[in-house]
Amino acid sequence: MAKIPSVVHWFRLDLRIHDNLALRNAINEAENRKYLLRPVYVLDPDIASKVGANRLRFLIQSLQDLDTNLRKLNSCLFILRGKASELLPKLFDEWQVKYLTTQVDIDPEILKEEEIVEKVANEKDIFIVKRVQHTVFDTQSVLKKNNDCVPLTYQKFLSLVQEIQVKDTIEITKSLSDHCKPSDYCDNNNVPLLSELGIDESMLTACKYPGGETEGLKRLHMYMAKKQWVCKFEKPNSSPNSIEPSTTVLSPYISHGCVSSKLFYHKLKEVENGIPHTMPPVSLMGQLMWREFYYTAGTGTENFDKMVGNKLCTQIPWASNDEQLKAWAEGRTGYPFVDAIMRQLKEEGWIHHLARHMVACFLTRGDLWISWEEGAKVFEGYLLDYDWSLNAGNWMWLSASAFFYKYFRVYSPVAFGKKTDKEGLYIRKYVPELKKYPTEYIYEPWKAPQNVQKAADCIIGEGYPQRIVDHDKIHKENMQKMSVAYKANKEKKSLKRPRS
Ligand SMILES: Cc1cc2nc3c(=O)[nH]c(=O)nc-3n(C[C@H](O)[C@H](O)[C@H](O)COP(=O)(O)OP(=O)(O)OC[C@H]3O[C@@H](n4cnc5c(N)ncnc54)[C@H](O)[C@@H]3O)c2cc1C
Repeated sequence: MAKIPSVVHWFRLDLRIHDNLALRNAINEAENRKYLLRPVYVLDPDIASKVGANRLRFLIQSLQDLDTNLRKLNSCLFILRGKASELLPKLFDEWQVKYLTTQVDIDPEILKEEEIVEKVANEKDIFIVKRVQHTVFDTQSVLKKNNDCVPLTYQKFLSLVQEIQVKDTIEITKSLSDHCKPSDYCDNNNVPLLSELGIDESMLTACKYPGGETEGLKRLHMYMAKKQWVCKFEKPNSSPNSIEPSTTVLSPYISHGCVSSKLFYHKLKEVENGIPHTMPPVSLMGQLMWREFYYTAGTGTENFDKMVGNKLCTQIPWASNDEQLKAWAEGRTGYPFVDAIMRQLKEEGWIHHLARHMVACFLTRGDLWISWEEGAKVFEGYLLDYDWSLNAGNWMWLSASAFFYKYFRVYSPVAFGKKTDKEGLYIRKYVPELKKYPTEYIYEPWKAPQNVQKAADCIIGEGYPQRIVDHDKIHKENMQKMSVAYKANKEKKSLKRPRS
């Protein structure tokens, strides 16, 4: 008997049912032609070597939730273990695939896989549908509006998108017909346990931000119900070191596609409608537009996540220092505010935007003079919300390599945190060895006299590290180096410019 042909929806950064146009296309095609619908996610078992345990937990929880939500529609999620470029082409024949739907992506590593899959699909006459559904705007169209040039400032970007009408989000509510459900396909739950990826869940800290569409939508609705809070939101006035987050923490859900950025956009429009509200860049809508800005820049720039070969990025002769990099990544720099942030990141997978500013500046132009690419790699492992273009774009900003050029504005690891947390409660939580330090010394414990250190049960250099650099001295030297690097880049550019 001839096999029934299939429609495959390849889930990537769209781990949701709501506002998933590509999935709806797949369902409609399967229903109309009486084909089988096969929703798949491809999990590379090597992922655990690159992605930290917290983010893997978030991913697995998100896949589990997606499977549950698909089952409510009389379907389910099938996890393929391996590389998409190897597995999907084989299944095209086995499953008699006629139609493949997925999202538009820009991460070069995913694109490499996608290119191979698409090539084979084209050879086999498989119809491919790709939808822009990870961003509010189609970044390619935004670039076109700017004569195929990357908008280099946020204001320029806003001017390009202000006239664009954002289409409504879509819903999928109708259950799949039984004849579209492959037999056996959904018999067992196919989502791996964390242990399958070599992770012992009992070693992880309590899960503060559980993954998945259900949790993400709950969080979105909870914040959108606080209309006054949304309308008064000003990012610079939120706190990097509050014990509970002072911003939405929607980022992990948006990055994994558990919450549609377009849905967030429309909900914000609804809340702001008819009420006085703050404006971009500081408003919540402004935050979402930062995301779109970096996605647009990432789409239009080759080697966006690298310094060399990236036309937007100032070339700076960073030094390498593995010991200091490790001390920074593990929260052992001897600067309690920096260490508290890095330990929160490692334990919980999320830190406030301004906390990211602090540690990124410290690693690069501020103190350690280590490349932003190294910092971006550490963030890639730890951040629940890791997103290729947002990570690279923000790291370039903070290291004053692109978009932001006031390199002399350096964050002080002592004064910055005090602005919003004089008592050092945040430090006491994440650097517990300093818990008993008097407030006077909590940001600068090396200044505490020996008897105070003893009374606080922590001798600096024994229970907590000595500072790995002297900020007051080193940041001035670094500013000189930045000035030289800027001049060299300017000269290089003027040499390249054709003479008239
Ligand atoms: C060095 C560095 C690396 C970063 N890496 C990432 C990353 O990999 N993934 C990521 O999602 N964000 C990244 N950010 C941006 C920002 O810090 C986070 O998006 C934000 O802190 C998430 O918290 P939230 O959801 O509470 O934000 P909110 O303030 O509540 O903002 C709402 C949403 O707007 C978007 N957003 C907010 N700020 C920014 C920003 N500066 N750039 C782009 N989008 C923004 C996010 O999607 C966020 O969820 C990075 C920032 C820095 C300085």
